[in-house]
Amino acid sequence: MKKPADKKVVLTGDRPTGALHLGHYAGSLLQRLKLQEDAEQYVLIADVQALTDHYKDPEGVRKNIDEVMLDYLAAGLTPDKTTFVLQSQVPEIAELSVYFLNLVTLARLQRNPTVKEEMRQKGYGSDVPAGFLAYPVHQAADITVFNADWVPVGEDQLPVIEQARDIVRSFNRIYGQTFTEPAALLSHVKRLPGLDGKSKMSKTLGNTIELKATPDLIKQRVTQMYTDPKKIHISDPGHLEGNVVFTYLDAFDQDKESLKDLKERYQEGKTGDVEAKKRLMGVLDGLLGPIRERRAGLERDKKTLRDILRAGTDKGRDRAREVMRRVRTALRIDYFE
Ligand code: ATP
Ligand code: MG
Repeated sequence: MKKPADKKVVLTGDRPTGALHLGHYAGSLLQRLKLQEDAEQYVLIADVQALTDHYKDPEGVRKNIDEVMLDYLAAGLTPDKTTFVLQSQVPEIAELSVYFLNLVTLARLQRNPTVKEEMRQKGYGSDVPAGFLAYPVHQAADITVFNADWVPVGEDQLPVIEQARDIVRSFNRIYGQTFTEPAALLSHVKRLPGLDGKSKMSKTLGNTIELKATPDLIKQRVTQMYTDPKKIHISDPGHLEGNVVFTYLDAFDQDKESLKDLKERYQEGKTGDVEAKKRLMGVLDGLLGPIRERRAGLERDKKTLRDILRAGTDKGRDRAREVMRRVRTALRIDYFE
């Protein structure tokens, strides 16, 4: 067992904009399951960030906090190893964001490829809410208020982490060494495509398989999955590139030997989508079945969920307060301390 002083601090999180899906699982949750074993891990439910583009639906954001907590616990994160924090209840994050805003230009925010793509999807044009445009600044505060070393995220978040690193460098240069420079940790599946083959499985795009999906729903979703449009008859040679069924098999099928055999037969025109999709249904049932069962048990006890989140938020806030004390000293605003 490592001494606490040697432990790396991990910060990561999700927006409560819906239940978690396979993209979260592959891109971030799997890493968190490993990291909780020997890092000091904080997992943030980013309700303030969810409100930047869901500000007209506060009730929906509130409801989804339970959904996300259920998914965390069902997937195997546990409160004795991971600290769950509710963003809106740690006002130090908002406080730090205000100072960070001075270190970022509007032009830099507008150039962020992730934000640009999300603005396009949401059809904001130039009418983008300022809070949304500035969410990478807020996210930099999420990370640094815990003085985190590592941030396990999907590939879509890399420009946002880069922005956080820039802010940390500027802050340390201007006000003196205060923050650790955080590093992104990518998993073996950096970006899981959506069912439709679009670049990313995402709640906003509605192209997901949720972790809580029933066997019937899994079947339905896999059936509609995008494969190889050129393969019409079994005897046609099949292509694996851009073929969502095989991308998911690569991500979730543990039996690599027999998967290799299936791929060869598919490419040679000896088998077709039916076999590949059946196999994927089995793999996903095996993965999601136990998660679904644990979730059903937890759903009956919402009070426990709240208690876990409250205790974690208290603990997280203690750390945030400590870091903010140092920030105030660095910023020369520690008047009454
Ligand atoms: P929204 O559409 O509301 O933004 P989302 O589906 O993009 O939701 P987030 O809460 O924004 O989910 O993402 C949480 C974490 O999960 C981030 O680290 C993100 O990179 C990761 N993630 C989300 N979708 C995928 C995906 N398809 N592949 C890999 N990682 C993903
Ligand atoms: Mg997102």
